[in-house]
Amino acid sequence: MTEEPMAAAASRLREAGLRVTAQRMAMLTAIHESPGHLDADTLRDRAQQITGGLSLQATYNVLRALTEAGLVRTTQIPGHPARFETERHDNHHHFVCRRCGTIRDVECTVGAAPCMKPRLPAGFGIDEAAVTFWGTCPDCRAAEKRVA
Ligand SMILES: [Zn+2]
Ligand SMILES: [Zn+2]
Repeated sequence: MTEEPMAAAASRLREAGLRVTAQRMAMLTAIHESPGHLDADTLRDRAQQITGGLSLQATYNVLRALTEAGLVRTTQIPGHPARFETERHDNHHHFVCRRCGTIRDVECTVGAAPCMKPRLPAGFGIDEAAVTFWGTCPDCRAAEKRVA
């Protein structure tokens, strides 16, 4: 682990108004260096390689603090553990494969939140639309065809 990613993580924590701790720096770095959407167990493994021992409870505490500070995006998908990724504020959505649980980003069609106009009575303020598209990924579709 070089100094640079950790220094970058420290300044991002400071900018977000968070106290800089070794655990938070390690987790932010682990998420930043992991493409895709990882669960807490996987991130705990990666963060531990940077900072040493990290309990599961500490992992969840750190992830919650980073999410609340707007540095990390948490995606809750029914039937799956929560997944975490760097918050890019791009209002992207997610495709989830029903068979293997793989998650793929789906770009926001408009590029800014909220990208849909829901039918709500006047008086509701909307700042975000999080959509989950469900279906079957190409690998699973190919496997289905082989069985059929
Ligand atoms: Zn699949
Ligand atoms: Zn995503």
